[in-house]
Amino acid sequence: MIATANDPNNAAGPAIASQLDAVRERIAAAEARYGRAPGSVQLLAVSKVQPAARIRAAHRHGQRAFGESYVQEACDKQALLADLRLDWHFIGRIQSNKTKTIAERFDWVHGLGDPRHAQRLGAHRLTVSDRPLRCCLQVNLSGEGSKAGVEPQALPELLARCAEVDGLRIEGLMTLPAPAEDGAAQRRPFAALRALRDRLATPGQPLATLSMGMSDDLEAAIAEGATMVRIGTAVFGPRPRHP
Ligand SMILES: *Cc1c(COP(=O)(O)O)cnc(C)c1O
Repeated sequence: MIATANDPNNAAGPAIASQLDAVRERIAAAEARYGRAPGSVQLLAVSKVQPAARIRAAHRHGQRAFGESYVQEACDKQALLADLRLDWHFIGRIQSNKTKTIAERFDWVHGLGDPRHAQRLGAHRLTVSDRPLRCCLQVNLSGEGSKAGVEPQALPELLARCAEVDGLRIEGLMTLPAPAEDGAAQRRPFAALRALRDRLATPGQPLATLSMGMSDDLEAAIAEGATMVRIGTAVFGPRPRHP
């Protein structure tokens, strides 16, 4: 079971506030260093396996967008946090039997890699909201980090099939590379994702979002054009294992 303590005076609050500040400073420093506009990189706080009280503490310190990987756990926490206005991003592996709940409970989905999932998500979304579900297509660029996502050569076809699904809006691309040793190796898959985006973007489909970069490689991702970094450990501290 996940912890569901919902005490607003949670003792972790001050630590989360200072960790959030530190991550914001890292993002701002990377924006400055790599010639990115100030504020052009959005922080998605990855709260998977963290109790609701920690999300509440982060929200109190100005954080609004949260990423979750496990559908049932996310729903439990959403119920505890229903008094807050939060943006929920699903960043986990999509399972067909969860598409209905994902379409109902989330604002964004980052790991879309299967047109059948797109169909199901879109169809459900139309029944529950007049706002489209905002999606990023996941591309597998390092061959090993995650088995999810499509190979680069399959991306045009995936994009074409997802773009025509009512109820969804394809915002951009996402990748989750294997950990790399040094900055140059970290940057390679991020540069590749941006190049793919530049090749496929059209005026009607700008694919403006590049969801890439985590606690250990956010600078490399920002250097290569990330617009959304997904940060868990650096915001919330080490994660307990998912039960
Ligand atoms: C857990 C997770 C993250 C956050 O990773 P950290 O290294 O803790 O920052 C980012 N993206 C995805 C898809 C994740 O599953």
